Amino acid sequence: MKDVVIIGGGPNGLLMACELSLAGARAVVLEQLPEPATRPKANGLVGRVV
Ligand SMILES: Cc1cc2nc3c(=O)[nH]c(=O)nc-3n(C[C@H](O)[C@H](O)[C@H](O)COP(=O)(O)OP(=O)(O)OC[C@H]3O[C@@H](n4cnc5c(N)ncnc54)[C@H](O)[C@@H]3O)c2cc1C
Repeated sequence: MKDVVIIGGGPNGLLMACELSLAGARAVVLEQLPEPATRPKANGLVGRVV
C-alpha cells in the first residue's frame, strides 16, 4: 500500500520520493520512459533546479 503516487522520475520526482520516505510516507514513482535518457540534462546544478 502506497501513501503517495508521484508522476515523473526526474530530479523533482525522485527527490520528493526520498523526502517523503524520510518523513515516513511510502511513495511510488511512475516514469513513462523505459530507461534513463541518453541526453545529459544536468551537467551541473543551476539555481532553479536547486
Ligand atoms: C538539454 C537540457 C540541458 C540541461 N542542462 C542542465 C544543467 O546542466 N544543469 C541544470 O541544473 N539543469 C539543466 N537542465 C534543466 C534540468 O534538466 C531540469 O530543470 C530538470 O530536469 C527538471 O526536473 P523535473 O523533475 O522537474 O522534470 P524532468 O526532468 O523533466 O522530469 C519529468 C519526468 O516526468 C516524466 N513524465 C512526464 N509526464 C509523464 C507522465 N504522464 N507519466 C509518467 N512520467 C511522465 C518524464 O519522462 C520525465 O522523466 C537542462 C535541461 C535540458 C532540456
